[in-house]
Amino acid sequence: MALIVQKYGGSSVADAESIKRVAKRIVDTRRAGHDVVVAVSAMGDTTDELLELAHDVAPIPAPRELDMLLSSGERISMALLAMTIHSMGFEARSFTGSQAGMITDSHHGKARIVDVTPVRLREALDEGAIVIVAGFQGFNRDTRDITTLGRGGSDTTAVALAAALNADVCEIYSDVDGIFTADPRVIPRARKLDRISSEEMLELAANGAKVLYIRAVEYARRHGVLIHARSTFSSAEGTYVLGEGMQAPRPSEGEAMEEPIVAGVATDLSQAKITVAGVPDVPGKAAEIFKIVAKSGANVDMIVQNVSAASTGRTDISFTLPKADASSAIKALAAEQSDVGFENLLHDDQIGKLSVVGAGMRTHSGVSAILFEALSAGGINIEMISTSEIRISVVLRGSDLAEAARTVHSAYGLDSEIEAIVHAGTGR
Ligand code: ASP
Ligand code: MG
Repeated sequence: MALIVQKYGGSSVADAESIKRVAKRIVDTRRAGHDVVVAVSAMGDTTDELLELAHDVAPIPAPRELDMLLSSGERISMALLAMTIHSMGFEARSFTGSQAGMITDSHHGKARIVDVTPVRLREALDEGAIVIVAGFQGFNRDTRDITTLGRGGSDTTAVALAAALNADVCEIYSDVDGIFTADPRVIPRARKLDRISSEEMLELAANGAKVLYIRAVEYARRHGVLIHARSTFSSAEGTYVLGEGMQAPRPSEGEAMEEPIVAGVATDLSQAKITVAGVPDVPGKAAEIFKIVAKSGANVDMIVQNVSAASTGRTDISFTLPKADASSAIKALAAEQSDVGFENLLHDDQIGKLSVVGAGMRTHSGVSAILFEALSAGGINIEMISTSEIRISVVLRGSDLAEAARTVHSAYGLDSEIEAIVHAGTGR
């Protein structure tokens, strides 16, 4: 008998039918003799709808009230799920984040979990109940207010519960069969992975993969939680996300096969590029520029500085950042133009970023050559390049991104024989 934490995303509990399907799955797990703790998201697009409502009544809703409002989405789904389970003849009890002992810092809208004290959950489990917890929310002890963990935060709730309760596995259910070598909506030939290391998963998530929420993967890695990402629509094994020294419960077929060098390809259309043109090529200019950008609150990703033209002694510095941060960064830079002494600013929000991730890059050479050859054969121009120990990223025209991703995916031999099945459509 194991303790299993299961997380169901919004698309898995979008309506009464779906809630019944999920309830059946939970009850089946209970019938198999396991203790079950469930973290549940708000139904379908509830969170988006609540956000929209908030902005209809107030241009800038108060963060405290916004968390009050958004946290109600998960209260609806948790109560409905518990009722459904009752009607199937099983004992279930739902708990809000604060009842579940999900203690966070006071940062409304993006709170971090600082402690989990699941006293009431333990009691309920001891009494034989199935435990349902509202995802995405917590409670701050100092302000005594309800907080939310940021969009997609129910994954983190599930992982934090799994860590605090010392669960055997944290199953994260969505409408896709697991973690794929690429987003199946972009690359239909993407292949489901049986397992992936948490460090590879983190790189993929940080570079645009949306199947798991990055904070949840970080939390799992820090606390040694085994994640199993799988589909609500099938009972097939999904993908195990393995931290250091972790083993998947059942060795998969093809175990003898050598680990692939590349685990996956991620695409990201959410970034913009800013070029600071005609920067005097003297010490201290990059420091000045990025101090200004940092003060504007922007999160810089890639940076490229060109060789300066001998005739002018000036150079161009380009960097990428989230599209949403671009206008404030540009405003901040423009205000200091004469102090820094650059010539002008270019803003480009039509870029796409393609990343190839694989732990095998540490020990294999020629991995980047395959990427560049594939792009060259496809006639796709590269604008920026950056690498980490286990990742190569390139910036391209956004309109080239999907085609580039398909070409690169197949160049690394990742294409599967069959097209991936995407059941409902959001991947959450
Ligand atoms: N309901 C929240 C959201 O849509 C949390 C979640 O789904 O994980 O972001
Ligand atoms: Mg949601």
